[in-house]
Amino acid sequence: MRIGSGFDVHAFGPGDHVMLGGVRIAHTHGVLAHSDGDVLLHALCDALLGAAGLGDIGQHFPDSDPRWRGAASANFVRAAISLIGERGYVVANADLTLLAEAPRIGPHRDAIRRSIAELLQVESDAVNVKATTTEKLGFTGRGEGLAAMASVLLVAA
Ligand code: MG
Repeated sequence: MRIGSGFDVHAFGPGDHVMLGGVRIAHTHGVLAHSDGDVLLHALCDALLGAAGLGDIGQHFPDSDPRWRGAASANFVRAAISLIGERGYVVANADLTLLAEAPRIGPHRDAIRRSIAELLQVESDAVNVKATTTEKLGFTGRGEGLAAMASVLLVAA
C-alpha cells in the first residue's frame, strides 16, 4: 500500500470556462496555463506520481515542452496510471479538494467524480470530490485563482 498527495494552483485569466476533473465548466474567467490548467487533475497526477515514488508532474510533462501546450490534463493522469500499472499498482481510492470562491462545483460534482473515476479505472465510489472557499482570504478568496489538493492510495494489482 502506498499513499500520495498533490497540490496545484492556477491563476485566473481571460476565458469563458475552466476544466475541473476533466469536465468543462462555464465561468467568467479561464485559467493561465500551458496545458488546459485543470487544477484537480494536476493535483491528482502529483498524488499518483508521489504515491509511486515517481517524482512530479513537472518532471514528466515539463511546461517547457511544446508537446504539452494546451494538452488535455486527462492525458497526464492516463500516463501516470500507466506508469503506476507497470509497477504493479492500482488505485484504491482518491480524495480531492478544490479551493475556490467560484466556480461552485455543486452542480458538476457527480460529473467530475465520474470523469475522475473513469481516468483512474475505479468505481465512482472510490473517488470523492470536495470543495471549500477560503472565507474570502488569500488569492483564492480574492478570486485571483483556484487551488486543489488530492490524496490517493495505491494497492498491489
Ligand atoms: Mg498545474
